[in-house]
Amino acid sequence: MMHLLEAQNLSKCYNLRNYQFGKTARLEAIKNISFTLDAGQTLAIVGESGSGKSTLARQIIGIEAPTNGRVVFNGEELNYKNKKHRKLRFKNIRMIFQNPYESLNPQARVGSTLEEVLLINTQLSAKQRKRKIEETLTKVGLLPEHQYRYPYMFSGGQRQRIAIARAIILDPKIIIADEPLSALDVSIQAQILNLMQELQEQMKISYLFISHDLNVVEHIADNVMVMFHGEVVELGSIEHIYDDPQHPYTQALFASTP
Ligand code: ADP
Ligand code: MG
Repeated sequence: MMHLLEAQNLSKCYNLRNYQFGKTARLEAIKNISFTLDAGQTLAIVGESGSGKSTLARQIIGIEAPTNGRVVFNGEELNYKNKKHRKLRFKNIRMIFQNPYESLNPQARVGSTLEEVLLINTQLSAKQRKRKIEETLTKVGLLPEHQYRYPYMFSGGQRQRIAIARAIILDPKIIIADEPLSALDVSIQAQILNLMQELQEQMKISYLFISHDLNVVEHIADNVMVMFHGEVVELGSIEHIYDDPQHPYTQALFASTP
C-alpha cells in the first residue's frame, strides 16, 4: 500500500564549531528515523526538549536537506533542491508553531498575511483571493472582517486560529503542528484541539502532531512515535503504547502524567 508520507532512515547532523579551540564537533540531532503517515491520520511525536522533534519537522517540510535518508510524498521521493518538489511541499505540507504571535508578521493585516500565501501559490484573481480568505477565516471560527485587523488585536487562541488559517488556505494534505497548544491557556487548548479535529474531518488533513502532553496526544492521535536523543524509541498505535510503554523515558512520562 502506498502511504501519503514516508520518512525513510532520516538523519541530520550539525557541525558545531568551537571557535575557542578551532575544533568541529558533529551533533547527530536525529538518527535513522522512519515512519509512515496515511491520509486523514494523526501521528503524534513525543519527546523531551532537544530530542530532535523540530529538526525532524524541518526535514519533512524541506527547509533543510537531511544528511541521510528520504522523504517520500505520495510515492515520490522529494528532493530538497528540486523546484517542483519545493512547490509541492509548500502547498501540501504546512506548519503551525507553538507561539503564533512570533510566527505572524506584526506589521501585516491578517488579510495580507493570508493573501501572500495565495499570491505565491495560486493563479486566483483578486476577487477570488478575497473570497478564499473570508471562507478560510470562517472555517477557523473567525469573522470575514477580521482580515482588516493586525495580529496584536487578537487573543492568543485567535492568533493560533489565524496561523491555522494560513496553514489550511491552500488545502494541504499534511499539517505539522509543533507544540501548537503549549503557549495557550488550558481552556483555549481544548478549543484549538477541537478545531484541528473538525478541520481534519472536513478536509481529510493528516497531522504530525508534536506534543509533550499525553492527555492531548491520547485525544487526537492514531499512532505515537516517541523520540529520545534523536532516535525513535517507540512507534505504534496509541493503545499499544499507552498499555505497554517500553522505554524508560516513556514510562517516566506516563508516571508524571495525571
Ligand atoms: P526538540 O524540538 O525536540 O526540542 P530540536 O530538534 O530543536 O529538538 O533540537 C535537537 C538537537 O539539535 C538539539 O541538541 C539542538 O541544540 C540541535 N540543533 C537543532 N538545530 C540546530 C542547528 N541549526 N544547528 C546546530 N544544532 C542544532
Ligand atoms: Mg522543538
